[in-house]
Amino acid sequence: MEPVVPLPLDPSTMDSLAVSAKDQAILNGLAYLTDPQNDSSDLVSFKPFVLLPSPVPRFLFDQARAVQKDFNLLVHRVSHDRAFLTRCLSSVIKVDNFTAGLFHIYEQVQKEGVAQPICLGVHRSDYLLDTTNNAVMETHGVTANRQFQLKQTEINTIAAAGAGFAEKMASVHSPFFILLFTCRHVLNLLGVTNAYKHIPENRALDSQVEGFVAAWERYGSQRAIIVFVVEEERCRNVFSQRLMEFSVMEKYPSITVRRYSLRQIAEDAELKSDKTLFMHGSEVAVVYFRAGYSPDHYPTEKEWNARLMIERSRAIKCPCISYHLAGTKKVQQELAQPGVLERFLEDPKSVGRVRATFAGQHTLEMGLEGDRTVQMAMRSPEDYVMKPQREGGGNNIYGEDIKTILDELKNSEERTAYIIMDLICPAVVQNYFMRPGHRPKLLGSSCELGVFGVFMAEGDQVFHNKQGGHYLRTNDTTTDGGIDVGHAVVDSPYLV
Ligand code: ADP
Ligand code: MG
Repeated sequence: MEPVVPLPLDPSTMDSLAVSAKDQAILNGLAYLTDPQNDSSDLVSFKPFVLLPSPVPRFLFDQARAVQKDFNLLVHRVSHDRAFLTRCLSSVIKVDNFTAGLFHIYEQVQKEGVAQPICLGVHRSDYLLDTTNNAVMETHGVTANRQFQLKQTEINTIAAAGAGFAEKMASVHSPFFILLFTCRHVLNLLGVTNAYKHIPENRALDSQVEGFVAAWERYGSQRAIIVFVVEEERCRNVFSQRLMEFSVMEKYPSITVRRYSLRQIAEDAELKSDKTLFMHGSEVAVVYFRAGYSPDHYPTEKEWNARLMIERSRAIKCPCISYHLAGTKKVQQELAQPGVLERFLEDPKSVGRVRATFAGQHTLEMGLEGDRTVQMAMRSPEDYVMKPQREGGGNNIYGEDIKTILDELKNSEERTAYIIMDLICPAVVQNYFMRPGHRPKLLGSSCELGVFGVFMAEGDQVFHNKQGGHYLRTNDTTTDGGIDVGHAVVDSPYLV
């Protein structure tokens, strides 16, 4: 794909734009901790970003936004189907202790009765702009020759981050374009006079704040607080969490947000006999998990006890354990099988919108079908990604490594901890990577579009179902290979 302006920029334009954009990033609060491991360190820098917004075909952007409410409902319906969740995860939990830990909490709460029937979901559905099949495709009923397709990598149902930074990044990119317009030379190169029209509005932060407040109101106690569950150590992205936390309290001063780790909750929280949760004497209305999605977040039994205590309580969880499980890779693989979506979505158009975003996903269950997947993936491992039931990046397996692992696991139940997915080949575009302490680097890049969804329901009664803005992250394809390295930088879409 072509970058939004011809590259490279001449060195003097480049230098002044780079300095200006970095300053904008700092002024906008696009910050991260440079040395989070060191407790005494308050060192902060700008969060790495790309200098230019990435081109995103408008029709794909619209498609991603249009399907979000379907996904919100799908997660809710899946999470309420105990037979389906159990069947999907029954092999996984035999071999994956972490998923088993989550599932046991789910089972326990199902057995004793769910104390809080209201579910709050803040999801992010992630997509790559696939170039694999440059073929005729159908979008919203319109058949056209399209170069790119929207393909979902996954939907995140826990700790779906980035809402605050997404908005900030657009305002770093937009004024930056205003600077460009003042420069006739670059304007001529750019060939457009109204770049702001290409940068879409993004209300990601507000949408999520609204979701939390709606849940807090529905809980119905003026004195109750919202708890953010965070990691024990200050993490790099603490500011993105803080944006959310402070925005809630700024806009709704009667609400207090407090941050606690699972360990602190295990030590200090109290679950009353009526299932009301108290933390340091304050009733808890809403619990928002920004941690709890990785085995590292449960170093001891204490953390598991805290998760169970929260789940058993009357507090509204974001997400509840069943939403968390509905977002596992295994469940997503099962949803991609023929005929499965129809079990959850009655509207065929809704099914069509969701299915259009699916890449092929394949089971590794023991049996014939799983055996076929093993053979297929070992024959051409470069066409697939192997995914365990983990979140947070850096866990996927690619290429020859798939072969090595399958060689070892192919006859063992251990293989059912993973799923196999068709490799999506994203569009590549040149861009300048801006990293603290480094000169801007012109590299190949590919972006991943995340669209947020905010949802609240009690059983079949849906209170809130919204598409809630977007978050674009971009990988360096030149040096990183562009895949799953956890080095993605912040970006914003430039619709073309
Ligand atoms: P995680 O839960 O760890 O974020 P993901 O499924 O989102 O797991 O995968 C992590 C990253 O791997 C994605 O951000 C994307 O860059 C890459 N990735 C995931 N699935 C695919 C795929 N099918 N094809 C190509 N790249 C993928
Ligand atoms: Mg992901």
